[in-house]
Amino acid sequence: MLFGLVKMLIIRKLKQPIDQVEMTAPLRAKNANATSKGPCLTAVLRMAGLRPTRQRLALADLIYGGGHRHISAEALHAEAETAGVSVSLATVYNSLRQFKEAGLLREVTVDAARTYFDTNTSDHHHFFIEDEDRVVDIPTNDIEILGLPEAPKGMKITHVDVVVRVKSES
Ligand SMILES: [Zn+2]
Repeated sequence: MLFGLVKMLIIRKLKQPIDQVEMTAPLRAKNANATSKGPCLTAVLRMAGLRPTRQRLALADLIYGGGHRHISAEALHAEAETAGVSVSLATVYNSLRQFKEAGLLREVTVDAARTYFDTNTSDHHHFFIEDEDRVVDIPTNDIEILGLPEAPKGMKITHVDVVVRVKSES
């Protein structure tokens, strides 16, 4: 989804008249010094209906800067502290929920105490590696679910999340 939005942004940028591009170029160059992904993330947050506050931008930069990943609120909070981003754990939680509600992240719940946020928002399943408290993707094609119950009357099944728990054999 993120890449789709970025692509839309690039298309829009190409459609801008040349004089407008030249006028805004110095502004963009100035922003680029702060963080190279800044202008892109700002657009992604705006398109998702979220105001690009400094904290949201800093968190989005940490979340999406490392490629596809599954991250807990606590781990993201620790990363923010290491990166010198001053943000409370409650704000990290709220931002992750807002990103999820905007469709920028998917929530993966392993149990009541373990929730991860996934940058891959497509339908897929997970292994939970118990020794490492970590989730990794299982491609959807590798799982066949048979005998699903009928949804309660008046409802339909939206999706099925499978978490397969594993640990090292030794
Ligand atoms: Zn995943």
